[in-house]
Amino acid sequence: MKCPSCGSPQHQVLKSKGNQTQELLLKCESCGNVYREIVEKPQPLEIRIIISKFEESEKGWVSFYPDEILRLDDVLEVGNERVRITSLENKRTARVTESLVQDLVTIWASSVDIPARVGVSVDLHGIVLSRKVEVDRDFAFTVGDVVKMDRTIFRIKAIKTLERRMRRGFAYANVTKRVYGIPVSEKRCNYDLTAKLVETSKVVE
Ligand SMILES: [Zn+2]
Repeated sequence: MKCPSCGSPQHQVLKSKGNQTQELLLKCESCGNVYREIVEKPQPLEIRIIISKFEESEKGWVSFYPDEILRLDDVLEVGNERVRITSLENKRTARVTESLVQDLVTIWASSVDIPARVGVSVDLHGIVLSRKVEVDRDFAFTVGDVVKMDRTIFRIKAIKTLERRMRRGFAYANVTKRVYGIPVSEKRCNYDLTAKLVETSKVVE
């Protein structure tokens, strides 16, 4: 926008009205000329978002301006929850690490706020006690931890993460699929998962 009288792009907005198109009353900062301009406001686009929660996923729509850039790992507010972008699919059906909103078809995300759901298997001499717990996503399971769960006290002997099976070290709950334990006779434990149990008792072979 340049002043029609002197050509200067420097201006002060005196008035603005309208939604789809905006009518501006501008005052040139160089010569003081007052003039009108009509500008098209970019309209936000509705982009499909798929939010995964445990084994299920939830579909919805989010709106962004076409010239905004989204990246993997960006945290978005969707409704009342925060989600992290895990994948971006553009109009060429390619998965990309960043994209202008106008090129996007689908945003894939996972909820940041919901706890992580982790399987726990305790080998009770041939019978495996298999349960699920929900803990904070940044909760760390460490091989060797002594854990109480209902009446069972066990020691973690292995951890299965999304990528591998570990026999030492620790893993955060958000990448842990299952922890494996063996019962111990100790009475003292590092932590108690009883309140974190999500399913009724289930014993599998
Ligand atoms: Zn001017």
